[in-house]
Amino acid sequence: MIHGEIHQNVRLYINGRWETSATTGVSANPSDTSEVVAEYARADRRQAEAAIRAATEAFPHWSHSTPQRRADVLDRIGTELLARKDDLGLLLAREEGKTLAEAVAEVARSGQIFKFFAGEALRGGGGENVASVRAGVQVDVTREPVGVVGLITPWNSPFVVPAWKIAPALAHGNSVVFKPAELVSACGWALAEIISRAALPAGAFNLVMGSGREVGQALVDSPLVDALSFTGSMANGERILQAAAARRAKVQLETGGKNALVVLADADLDRAVDCAVQGAYFSAGQRCTASSRLIVESAVHDAFVAKLRQRLKTLKIGHALERGVDIGPVVDEERLAQDLAWVDVAREEGAEHVWGGEALERATAGHYISPALFLAKPSHRIAREEIFGPLACVLRADDYDEALALCNDTPFGLCAGICTNSLKHAMHFRRHAVVGMTMVNLPTAGVDFHVPFGGRKGSGYGPREQGRHAAEFYTTVKTGYMLA
Ligand code: NAD
Repeated sequence: MIHGEIHQNVRLYINGRWETSATTGVSANPSDTSEVVAEYARADRRQAEAAIRAATEAFPHWSHSTPQRRADVLDRIGTELLARKDDLGLLLAREEGKTLAEAVAEVARSGQIFKFFAGEALRGGGGENVASVRAGVQVDVTREPVGVVGLITPWNSPFVVPAWKIAPALAHGNSVVFKPAELVSACGWALAEIISRAALPAGAFNLVMGSGREVGQALVDSPLVDALSFTGSMANGERILQAAAARRAKVQLETGGKNALVVLADADLDRAVDCAVQGAYFSAGQRCTASSRLIVESAVHDAFVAKLRQRLKTLKIGHALERGVDIGPVVDEERLAQDLAWVDVAREEGAEHVWGGEALERATAGHYISPALFLAKPSHRIAREEIFGPLACVLRADDYDEALALCNDTPFGLCAGICTNSLKHAMHFRRHAVVGMTMVNLPTAGVDFHVPFGGRKGSGYGPREQGRHAAEFYTTVKTGYMLA
């Protein structure tokens, strides 16, 4: 396999200038670990604090810019992302390991998000003009930007998760300090490089790569950061929530899932298998919306498992850039070791092995694993804890009521799906699944870019991301009274 370009100019972007740092990191291609994708600057605490100060100084300028200016900036970023979806998709596939088709689609969606929020900049966060209860008084309710926002993102969707935070933040007039996950530093930098050429005032947008403990924590601790939006693990989210609450910063968390796909006896089984394969295993299961629990009604349990096993046998696992590959590698050695350890846990706790879960060798040295399927009990750890890899379990349910109860028997609440031809059950499920998003005859993973995204219970905290609802987090409400 021919190696791609090594990105060596992956620097920090602070106060409108590109900066190097005392230490650097290296990102490698998970499909071929001999290939270096980028050498990137790692910010220290002092640089993170400089970025926060720059954002603080830029805030008065950017927050009072015209909606037309903000719309133009966002539209320009969206246009470039869409125009360059192929080369940026290639970078994403090389650095994170999702297949080229998945990666190109992610970049395109990021472009659409910037375009959507260009429109939102013009429409504004929404206001009201209300008659006062007092004679001669006028009241209006308006929305203003919050201030400096710290955006902390995970490695699994390195374009789209940053896009759905940065675009609404800028659209509503906030200034930004963006901290991507280290494993995907070049993707964060590529996005920032486009933003750096979009005619923002210096300091309105800043990029600081580096460790969560040092750079991320600097954002969490700084009294100058008014709001924090974090996507990542539940454990880190919990710590950030406590720290933000202690200093009264606004906070929004998106923190994983243990999403169920319910398959009822009246479902189209081929469609249900498609939903399960796409939801549980594509992007190597490294999606917060992955269907890691397949809850199947007894009458079709064995037939569903047999069909799913057949499909798993046909999936092609390999280099993310190879034509025809369905599933790329997992992101790094640590993840692969964790996924294999989950396979051991499944066997040790007595789950019945159906397929996969083995480390695979390919022509290039990468982090390959076959998609794993087990039959589990609701008490098994593989049915309760987030795995974030290509491992799913099937749980048997006697009927719809038991399936719904199992679906809701989890500390998470991001997304839940049902495959059925019963309108009654579909409607009931949409109302009674305790989650932020429901899917009927669709995979749990794969969402639109213009509507709210997020979860309940352990999966999220604070207002939803994406769509018009993003204004709830990125603006604050002001009520104005005036004697006419
Ligand atoms: P992670 O929690 O390890 O890291 C997320 C980000 O937080 C990274 O940028 C990291 O550097 C930073 N960070 C780590 N410690 C920090 C600290 N003390 N202070 C501030 N920042 C800190 O998560 P990950 O391994 O990168 O991503 C996988 C997790 O993300 C999974 O649990 C997954 O479910 C979740 N996720 C959730 C969603 C969602 O929308 N619900 C989407 C994608 C991923």
